[in-house]
Amino acid sequence: MLYGGIEAGGTKFVCAVGDEHGAIIEQVQFPTTVPVETMQKVIHFFQGFELKAMGLGSFGPFDINSNSPTYGCITTTPKTAWKDYPIVQTLKEAFRVPIGFHTDVNAAALGEATFGAAQGLDSCLYITVGTGIGAGAVVHGKLLQGLSHPEMGHILVRRHPGDLYEGKCPYHRDCLEGLAAGPAIEERWGEKGIELANRQEVWEMEAFYLAQALMQYILILSPKKIILGGGVMKQKQIFPLIHENVKQLLNDYVTFPELSSEIGEYIVSPGLEDRSGIIGSLLLGKQAYQETLR
Ligand code: ADP
Ligand code: ZN
Repeated sequence: MLYGGIEAGGTKFVCAVGDEHGAIIEQVQFPTTVPVETMQKVIHFFQGFELKAMGLGSFGPFDINSNSPTYGCITTTPKTAWKDYPIVQTLKEAFRVPIGFHTDVNAAALGEATFGAAQGLDSCLYITVGTGIGAGAVVHGKLLQGLSHPEMGHILVRRHPGDLYEGKCPYHRDCLEGLAAGPAIEERWGEKGIELANRQEVWEMEAFYLAQALMQYILILSPKKIILGGGVMKQKQIFPLIHENVKQLLNDYVTFPELSSEIGEYIVSPGLEDRSGIIGSLLLGKQAYQETLR
């Protein structure tokens, strides 16, 4: 049985055809341009496959509230061409199969909980630190959603005493994303993250901010595994710094081995490497198909 998966990002789209075990048979990717052009490429790729259903993990803000008039639309994105774009409706009209959809980070959390670093666990948190910061969560085996999806990248953090950078978030200036996403690193230090690999102070400051966020997520959600993905997290030297900072911040208040001696296996890189989101999207398709059998 074949499913289609779409990982719709602000920079690029990834489309894949795969089976229910997450095995990808064919995959393409292309840059995100204006909706008509981008969706034409999506539709062209999937034509010719006999798909049971499709899944979409999309950048946001993305309306996932089924009672809302803009359900399935991308809403207030700064990528203005996509503002209010009915991406799910477009896919439904093009393919006439069930469509499962969620945010890109929730799709990645589902991928990791099913086949990745959190396999076998009914709870995990997936965080991406890239062009922005976002997180998705599996709680009791289900993707976390309330009024809408969580926006965990925009929480407030204490400032590093040595940080004079004003922050880059257009809404909150110095929220977590404004201080710690890739573009903030680049603007603060004057070079792209990848060029700063050997600058210890860069990664100490990054870990200082990310660890505060993780402390709050741990205290609020108590996830069984935390997975950190996205371009910035390719700097693997941040992991031990984050582990130490989180331990210090928690200060043995919550006493679990995962939060002390085993923290290296608790806060980890994605088990599916760069495929968490696309495999999660395929799984959203599978879930949508299973819904039709109920
Ligand atoms: P997106 O968030 O757009 O899907 P990425 O997760 O690749 O894409 O994030 C892009 C951001 O991550 C950019 O700001 C880039 O400078 C930064 N980045 C990408 N690769 C690296 C790397 N190896 N080391 C540090 N920063 C990186
Ligand atoms: Zn913000």
